[in-house]
Amino acid sequence: VKWLGNNFTHNLTSRLVALALPPRCAGCNSLLTEPARWCPDCWRELAIAFGKPCCPSCASPIGPFQSLNPKNRCNRCLKPPHPVSAICRLGTYDGVLSDVICNLKYNRNIYSGELIADLLAEKLADQGWLGEIEGLCPVPMHWTRHLLRRLDHTRIIADRLSRHTHLPVLPALRRRRSTPPQVGLSALARRENIKDAFAIKKRWPLEGTTLCLVDDVMTTGATLFEAARTLKHAGAKTIYAAILARAEKL
Ligand SMILES: [Zn+2]
Ligand SMILES: [Zn+2]
Repeated sequence: VKWLGNNFTHNLTSRLVALALPPRCAGCNSLLTEPARWCPDCWRELAIAFGKPCCPSCASPIGPFQSLNPKNRCNRCLKPPHPVSAICRLGTYDGVLSDVICNLKYNRNIYSGELIADLLAEKLADQGWLGEIEGLCPVPMHWTRHLLRRLDHTRIIADRLSRHTHLPVLPALRRRRSTPPQVGLSALARRENIKDAFAIKKRWPLEGTTLCLVDDVMTTGATLFEAARTLKHAGAKTIYAAILARAEKL
């Protein structure tokens, strides 16, 4: 099965091993006494991360004494008209949710990543705008990073969402240049860092389409908004986004 590539065999092996052994928690890998995907501790932590309120427009956290204005937006995203109409965010970037995302990206734990994408799909199904979406567009990484990681995590998430929503995956974006990691940069520096980083692959006609960007973690939104701007430049009409997590601090 060499021609099927590393990811496939890795994935298949881990699935077979998972079937043969007693079930383990997809979050902390502890042994489970009954058939389940998450242990009670991890599930409790995930439920807290999922339950934290956020602005439906920019996914930034909403404190207990904050309220949304009549346009259903927080005060932060009222002034500059940002290019994403609404964001479906699964949870906050901490605890088990961040562990699962890191394990997907850096340890190629596809099994847990797919389970968490299934939960994002459930949340996406509740969004009133889901019916408008014509395609899912994963936010790409540069090919050099893809080569290093040997896995395209946003594509894995998008494929999983596609399975549930029956929407096509449209990998219309590509990274034009390899950008230094955004970690540790200020919001302004992030925007500069990511500017013009994306381009459209020629074969995708996007004129008038409504698309949903798919990404793992959103911090300031610089990457997500730049990707949305690129799609809109190419003629896309409306952009929504589905993300696994929003980081609450820089
Ligand atoms: Zn666990
Ligand atoms: Zn907002």
